[in-house]
Amino acid sequence: MSESRDDSLHNDDILPLDVLDPQQVSGVGDMDPERFREAAHATVDAMADYLANVRSAPVFPAVEPGSLRGLFPTSAPEAPESVGAMLADVAALVEPNTTHWQHPGFFAYFSTTASGPGILGEMFVATLGANAMLWRTSPVATELEVVVVDWLRQALGLPAVFGGLVTDTASTSSLIALGAAREAAGVDAAAEGIGGRPDVPRLRVYASTEAHSSIDKAAMTLGLGRASLVHVGTDDALAMDPDELAAAIDADVAAGLRPMAIVATIGTTSSTAIDPVAAIADIAEARGLWLHVDAAYGGAAAIVPDRRGPFTGWERADSIVMNPHKWLFTPFDASLLLSRRMPVIRDAFSLVPEYLRTLDRAAPVLDFNEYTPTLGRRFRALKLWFVLRYFGLEGIRRRIEAHCAWATWLADQVESDPDFELLAPVPFSTVCLRYRPRSLADRADDPATHADLDAMNERLLHAVNATGEVFLSHTRLRGRFAIRVAIGSLHTEERDVRRAWELVRTEAARLES
Ligand SMILES: *Cc1c(COP(=O)(O)O)cnc(C)c1O
Repeated sequence: MSESRDDSLHNDDILPLDVLDPQQVSGVGDMDPERFREAAHATVDAMADYLANVRSAPVFPAVEPGSLRGLFPTSAPEAPESVGAMLADVAALVEPNTTHWQHPGFFAYFSTTASGPGILGEMFVATLGANAMLWRTSPVATELEVVVVDWLRQALGLPAVFGGLVTDTASTSSLIALGAAREAAGVDAAAEGIGGRPDVPRLRVYASTEAHSSIDKAAMTLGLGRASLVHVGTDDALAMDPDELAAAIDADVAAGLRPMAIVATIGTTSSTAIDPVAAIADIAEARGLWLHVDAAYGGAAAIVPDRRGPFTGWERADSIVMNPHKWLFTPFDASLLLSRRMPVIRDAFSLVPEYLRTLDRAAPVLDFNEYTPTLGRRFRALKLWFVLRYFGLEGIRRRIEAHCAWATWLADQVESDPDFELLAPVPFSTVCLRYRPRSLADRADDPATHADLDAMNERLLHAVNATGEVFLSHTRLRGRFAIRVAIGSLHTEERDVRRAWELVRTEAARLES
């Protein structure tokens, strides 16, 4: 080290050390561990109070778009503020204005439970502050991820040929899977791209009309375009028609296009329909196509051995996604991507610049960033490790069984009520229903009645949600407006499901009068 550099370290004309002395100036230093301890205890007390009281809040806050921004200062404060002031503002400004995903009456979309052990895991993840991009940037983050992925693989009943990783969302997992499928199609897209290449015919991906929009987005992002995604029709149960799939692929081949992947869904987002994966796997294998299974929500049910029937054939997939942040009681975000072709994923996404090269190891190390479009990665395995250990697979199975039983109960109520109807089968824990007063039963299919029923059910949904006791969402099934009740929160109890049904019936009766 040169003398002049050494001197500059002690030159307080350049850097007067007291500007960084927290004893003399506030705001320049992090909390010392004792202050952190005190503030963290206060924060955890506020978190526990929130969870203790969330049931009494309306699930969806009574606020209008744009009404919240004005509650907050327009610029960051110049002077330091206290944690006490922040916690007071969380109570005053944040808690009353959030949608309460932790509310027992949350039945909209697919719920996410931030379970106690999951929250504690997240706290530790934040505390370590590790970026899990390379093995050496946190060896245990990488190796615990391998362990937890394999725990989940076994819990789901899948064979050991599947490796995997944890990503943020199913959207990313499916993007990675389709990126690998594009690589497997042999056009060397990672190196050469696919634009402006006369040697590359249009690549095609097949999914049902009920597939999640993340598949369309993956096609957009991968340069395939939405026009490359073929939406195959479905049967009465909203499951993909395998004959139509095979015909579409064969027609594309005849037309000179290049089929590349099939996406089968186990538990579609709208109605939790189940594509016939075994028949689809036959088609994929016969034609050498990548099979990706999207089980973002439904996948959790495979943890219950007796519920693996609908999953038959998924063990033949090239890749599978399921989201622990949906029905596995893990705080958002955590998505599990499994694949039997991890090296292909690596071919699609690996790029190792000099500054990320691992120099001091003879054997190659596992650097998960080589399998993802992003470099930086969160240490999500830690919270999954907490969740799986706290509940045990046995506890998780019991809870999933309870949710399925409550959904079956609700479906039975709907079916035996002459003023309501089910709009889809209920294979998991989500019920799609609509109000169809008996007076309209024999006219339900004529277009005018059809429109009336849609409007009526939309009003019904608003009325039920306006009670604040429950939060339901909607979808459209075969063009009909459907009210969706998705049971999946660890905080939901049987009485909450009964209450949801009671509210739907009483609000429907009120609309009628
Ligand atoms: C929810 C869902 C997704 C998207 O999940 P994200 O994690 O929010 O990206 C994809 N597919 C299915 C079937 C889903 O239900």
